[in-house]
Amino acid sequence: MRALAVFPERRELRLIEVPAPARRSEHEVTVRIREVGVCGTDREISGFHYGKPAPGSERLVLGHEALGQVVEVGSSVRTLAPGDLVALTVRRPCEVATCVACRAGRQDFCVSGEFTERGIQGADGFMTELVVDHERYLVRVPSALAEVGVLVEPLTVSAKAAVDLDGILRRYPWEPLGLRALVLGAGPIGLLSAMMLVARGVKTFVYSREAASGDRAELARSFGAEYVSAGDTPLSELPARVGSAEIIFEAVGTARVAFGAVRALAPNGVFILSGMPSAHAPIEIDLDYIMRDIVLKNQVLFGTVNASRGAFEAAVRQLEQFMGLFPNAVRRLITHRAKLDDAPELLRRPSGIKQVVQLAT
Ligand SMILES: [Zn+2]
Ligand SMILES: [Zn+2]
Repeated sequence: MRALAVFPERRELRLIEVPAPARRSEHEVTVRIREVGVCGTDREISGFHYGKPAPGSERLVLGHEALGQVVEVGSSVRTLAPGDLVALTVRRPCEVATCVACRAGRQDFCVSGEFTERGIQGADGFMTELVVDHERYLVRVPSALAEVGVLVEPLTVSAKAAVDLDGILRRYPWEPLGLRALVLGAGPIGLLSAMMLVARGVKTFVYSREAASGDRAELARSFGAEYVSAGDTPLSELPARVGSAEIIFEAVGTARVAFGAVRALAPNGVFILSGMPSAHAPIEIDLDYIMRDIVLKNQVLFGTVNASRGAFEAAVRQLEQFMGLFPNAVRRLITHRAKLDDAPELLRRPSGIKQVVQLAT
């Protein structure tokens, strides 16, 4: 069967033939991959800047945002049956006995750093025809979500953040009503996070580079967010433009924008970081001002990476909710579908919002 793989040592990205995987235990499930989303992480890997093959292998099969369909199940599998749609979780636990997070099944909180991630770190990904995995790593997706189920994995970023956000909001002895949120970035994570906030009844602003007349701006408005273009409102004017926000969700991946927007954070506000800045020259930021505000205003700043099985299950429920509230906006997040043959080209040329490789229907 075919797969898209990167050979970091040889600096090659190409389609290869690989043997079909076999189940090694009665708890494993064989999944036919239907669609795999492509994101910045895949582009970093295919540009040889990130990612690592499994030990002893010279190549890594790409793909970590996958929707598949169960083909066969081992005799002990209880939660899935042939025909079920599934989202495939990405991170696998480390083997370090003292890693309390992985031992508790929460490898998204792994403390040893020796976890693997399918399609990213030390384990092959899903941009291939068939995949075998333990049922505990597969999350059922209702068939009604078939056309947008590939968005479950990117949606887990905000689903996981929402759990931690709720934990922090619980510190207030009052019901936090009338909340305002500022989302930085209008990529897939930014727009999905904005949908999550709008669906929770939060007044939500999306701040991004694209003009206020652009497609992403129009999409943001279509599901009830307000769009603010960086072209019209420089960072320094953002607090005056949006007022103060109890929640800021960063999905832009640059420290200059993230910390430039921190002045818009309200007293007792929560700032969530999800982007990954690439290395470049140092920038000047007034950290004294930011630190003083964090202390005097009881602000919380936290980062979020990867996702647990629980976050995948929450993302499936959220996607169902979004499809009830604003189905066309959700569909419009997927701007391009390509065949596996065209996947290398797709990785070289980012365009639109979410690009998807279609392997089977
Ligand atoms: Zn991704
Ligand atoms: Zn661990």
